[in-house]
Amino acid sequence: MAITLLDIILGLSGIVCSQALMAIYMVLGCLGSASFGKHLFNRVLSRVGAICMIFFLCVELWLFQFVAHPSTTCSLIGVLLSGLVLWSFLMTAFTDPGTPSSPEWQHWNKHSSIIETKVSADITKERSYNGKPKHWGSGESTECDRCNHSRPARSHHCKHCDRCVLRMDHHCPLIGNCVGWRNHKYYLLLQGWQFWGCVMFLFASGGPGELALYGTMPFSGLWMELILYTGCSWAAVVMVIAARTFMVALYMATRNETHVEKCYIGENPYALPQSLDNLVQLLGPLDIKLLMPIGVPRKCGGTEFPHTGQEHTQERSVRYQKEPKKLIEDHVSDVSANYGSV
Ligand SMILES: [Zn+2]
Ligand SMILES: [Zn+2]
Repeated sequence: MAITLLDIILGLSGIVCSQALMAIYMVLGCLGSASFGKHLFNRVLSRVGAICMIFFLCVELWLFQFVAHPSTTCSLIGVLLSGLVLWSFLMTAFTDPGTPSSPEWQHWNKHSSIIETKVSADITKERSYNGKPKHWGSGESTECDRCNHSRPARSHHCKHCDRCVLRMDHHCPLIGNCVGWRNHKYYLLLQGWQFWGCVMFLFASGGPGELALYGTMPFSGLWMELILYTGCSWAAVVMVIAARTFMVALYMATRNETHVEKCYIGENPYALPQSLDNLVQLLGPLDIKLLMPIGVPRKCGGTEFPHTGQEHTQERSVRYQKEPKKLIEDHVSDVSANYGSV
């Protein structure tokens, strides 16, 4: 089948778009503009991940647009999906996930109650035996013993980046960034669009999947067949991994739970009664913007979350003003009952 001018334009635009965006990613990464952390191993992993991503996307796009020769509609959807994958990837990698320099944290620093911070700092030093609290907090700020500063509730320290992150979920070495309050939506979209990109690659009419199963190669040679079958195998592997990661991330979002918190004992005090409310809290309103990796206004700022022990915390702040020593002593005895003696 002859390759038309439209096919060449679509293919080239897809490849140039991906190459340009990934080149920006590499240059910025190499200049150290990205928050890739302080450790060499982490940085090397990030570069390897980015190089694999460039190679993978270029070969897949070339196979999809030029070798397999899918229909014009599929070509257009292919370019659209490639763009969304790259956009989500870059937003996940380059958005501040919620570090102390993020606007939300800065705002919290200025406006958080001095009394509450002091109470919490005293209390949570006691709670964090062996470095890791295993019980849910009750919406209070805590203190990081690595950074030596107070931090909002649900913030955690990333050992790869050596910094605390708001509502931290996990550190992703292939993206080279933590996944936290400010880029969780982009990470979820990356997995989702990656999955649909692979589906399109494998199942598009006239696409590489069909070519590998039934078609005749437009170019002969063992190398071409090897690239085609390798491309299809990779797409199948990525499709399964992305689907699994997306489903797990979505399920946890509906439960208002992070990977750090999933091993905590007891009932999640931050879970809202409705799953949709939990999703909206993290991802923003359920409209068309939800499908794009762009920031949207959210009711919650990532530093304070509605929780079932809210009234209890307010009560304690008032009590601290009246009898600070007694409050801390009471709490230490509560903690000892939960964790045993140090
Ligand atoms: Zn920290
Ligand atoms: Zn990290």
